[in-house]
Amino acid sequence: MWGMIATWRMAFEGVSKGAEMLEAGSNAGDAVEAAIREVEDFPYYKSVGYGGLPNEEMEVELDAAYMDGDTLDVGAVAAIKDYANPVSIARRLSRETVNSVLVGEGAEKFAHKEGFERKNMLTDRAKAFYRKRRKEVAGQELKPYSGHDTVGMVCLDDGGKVTAATSTSGLFMKKKGRVGDSPIVGSGFYADSKVGGASATGLGEDLMKGCISYEIVRLMKEGLHPQEACERAVNLLDAELKERRGKAGDLSLVAMNREGQWGVATNIEGFSFAVALKGQKPKVYLAKRGEDGRCTFEEASREWMEDYMRTRMAPVEE
Ligand code: ASP
Repeated sequence: MWGMIATWRMAFEGVSKGAEMLEAGSNAGDAVEAAIREVEDFPYYKSVGYGGLPNEEMEVELDAAYMDGDTLDVGAVAAIKDYANPVSIARRLSRETVNSVLVGEGAEKFAHKEGFERKNMLTDRAKAFYRKRRKEVAGQELKPYSGHDTVGMVCLDDGGKVTAATSTSGLFMKKKGRVGDSPIVGSGFYADSKVGGASATGLGEDLMKGCISYEIVRLMKEGLHPQEACERAVNLLDAELKERRGKAGDLSLVAMNREGQWGVATNIEGFSFAVALKGQKPKVYLAKRGEDGRCTFEEASREWMEDYMRTRMAPVEE
């Protein structure tokens, strides 16, 4: 059995590529890396890789991670600038026994030494979004806002290996040096080939408070189906945050177990995700949380898919 699940519609092309690789016998490490690179390279996805939206100083600082569920190796980079594929740097770092999580300049030095591709990741389009936002909030203090989305994936190969990986430009207008959940093991991602994996998107500051990807894998280890595990973890964290702090940020999670069963949960409207499984075509679904706390989802219509691409590629009105 092989399978892949990933956050957001933007993962679809990557998941489709990963699925082809898995079908041809690739391992879950190569497939998840290639799938995320596909998203990083697409200039119109404004929250991951090339074309990602900048921080408040108009710099694109990227976070990414990789975890191997066989060995529990983890590698991550945070606030890295000017490198094309942070997920590949994270994967390379996962093979180090020490110094496997690097930030900023240290991460860039490592990437340079290892020969990774340098690239200016700030596109004209991202600059236009930045200028537009500045105008909208003229005179007010700049705050990070909802121009974000992480690509987070879990991948299972035919040999039973599970991997997880993430990549993001984090919150639009974030402070220089801000790090979200995506490169933090247990929060943004977790993989254990004996159980399965999980990955997150949403407000990093809140996702981290629940170590939520680890929590989902832990619940799956206790025997919960991925759907049950995701719902329980997301609903509990959402409720705890509301009780203690009066509000909860966006929390959306995907998970897959070692049998290829999968699940999702969210506390927002319109969370999209992509799934590929052996013997089935890759699909995009739209999820929402019902009154009873259960998460329901349906396959995205062709119209929704076309509209999505149209909006992503529309000119930026400044
Ligand atoms: N979780 C990411 C962060 O806080 C952003 C997102 O997934 O939307 O950096």
